Amino acid sequence: MIAENSPSPEFDEVERARDSMRLLGAFLSMLKSRVITHRRFYLAHAITFGCNSKCRMCTYWQLTPRMKEDLRTEGVYQLLDEAYDSGMRAYYIFGGEPLIRKDIGRIVDYAKGRGFLTTMNTNASLLASKAASLTNLDLAFVSLDYNEYHDLIRGRKGSFDDAAGPHTQVEKL
Ligand code: SF4
Repeated sequence: MIAENSPSPEFDEVERARDSMRLLGAFLSMLKSRVITHRRFYLAHAITFGCNSKCRMCTYWQLTPRMKEDLRTEGVYQLLDEAYDSGMRAYYIFGGEPLIRKDIGRIVDYAKGRGFLTTMNTNASLLASKAASLTNLDLAFVSLDYNEYHDLIRGRKGSFDDAAGPHTQVEKL
């Protein structure tokens, strides 16, 4: 993404070109992997044991006390370096709930800086408060259910409002 307060139009141009190359690199990596090398191109990373929801169909949130075992920031950087060096160009972050990590913005920045396409699966409950640190996230996948069923399924009152907050155009039906 291009910063809103870029220093100059030339800077924007360079950033845009760099971003296009990154996305092209991710696409070519996928193509090469599927057609020629059959090597992995997509790093899917369960980045934390923790989750702030209690979804009925999931037991992952019960692992939240194990968050202290999460790979630390430097370890994630190392993982990304190794993945990049092995030819991977897309990074998919899931959990648990990735946004409960304090360093999630820095990790996304690092991944994009290395040249990855950055994507994330999130319950979006913290998206409004973390949005400013996620300018380098390319895609976020969010599941929403019909109004009160959303909260019922996730075991947490206010989940729908948190997820469909001011950062989205979603309205209650
Ligand atoms: S938000 Fe995801 S990880 Fe958390 S409890 Fe629900 S399904 Fe499981």
